[in-house]
Amino acid sequence: MLQPEAVAAMTARRNVRARLVAPRRFELADRPVGRVREGGALVRILGCGVCASSLPLWEGRPWFDYPRPAGEPGHEGWGIVEAVAPDVTELSPGDLVATLGLDALAQYLVCPATECVRLPHRLAGRPFPGEALGCGFNVVRRAGLEPAQRIAVVGGGFLGLLVGAIAHHLGAVVVVASRRAQARQLAEQLGAAATIDSNDPETALARARRLAPKGWDCVIECTGLQAPLDLASELVRERGRLVIAGYHQDGRRQVDMQSWNWRGIDVVNAHERDPARYRQGIQEAARAAAEGWLRPEQLVSHSFPLEEVGAAFELVGRAPDGLTKAVLRMD
Ligand SMILES: [Zn+2]
Repeated sequence: MLQPEAVAAMTARRNVRARLVAPRRFELADRPVGRVREGGALVRILGCGVCASSLPLWEGRPWFDYPRPAGEPGHEGWGIVEAVAPDVTELSPGDLVATLGLDALAQYLVCPATECVRLPHRLAGRPFPGEALGCGFNVVRRAGLEPAQRIAVVGGGFLGLLVGAIAHHLGAVVVVASRRAQARQLAEQLGAAATIDSNDPETALARARRLAPKGWDCVIECTGLQAPLDLASELVRERGRLVIAGYHQDGRRQVDMQSWNWRGIDVVNAHERDPARYRQGIQEAARAAAEGWLRPEQLVSHSFPLEEVGAAFELVGRAPDGLTKAVLRMD
């Protein structure tokens, strides 16, 4: 714990934060760091991932108000604890943490200590977009995988590639479908036994049928879009499982209920809303990275300084081949 004078000196520091003032327009605001209150911690943010699920907020939708609170929508932050309130015992200055809040597009973050997840020190110096990595582990847990099961992952973005890598590590035989050539290549490096080019739905389905005529035990949809959801639905074997991990947030979806029904498939919506689950997923990801079989840097394709936050969101919006995860680096 730091002496009060040290804390006072620290909180007088300037903190540059990104603020989304209007759709597609970030501004940087420079304010003092602010006081650490009871139960709180001051974290120097080292980096923060840009999440595709934040794109509607960036692009603008009628139901969002602007300007947004400073630091939003940075929910994939990691950093170093610089100070904690006197009553905080579970964290110490110097701890490496992932942050659970929404406002990590900033140099510093003052947050409840309960919104920090401690990471092993050996991960220092490496990118660790905690919430995004934890999400992959939570999805795989909800999928209830068993070793030697045949798994198809539909979507070769960050989540699809991560889920494929975890499933492979757990002993599943993994196939990844993606429209993007570099993503398919990376999926193979991460352990996929085969990949499917999903640019043309009919060709994709034909290749899938050749690979597994009776379908897959478990199909994990990781895109949040209608067409890949259709493909994913088709690939599930009788009594198999369809896991929906994509974030379907732009309206209703249509599903072939007759076919789901006939095949008797289980359908799982693999999102979590309980902070304890986020924490669990992040801890599992941290353990995997410390053990060395998960290398987060393999999944981070682009890095921007905080001043280029707009360019980072623009890139994620375009989702060119070769993009897996863009991160902002404040270190
Ligand atoms: Zn995210």
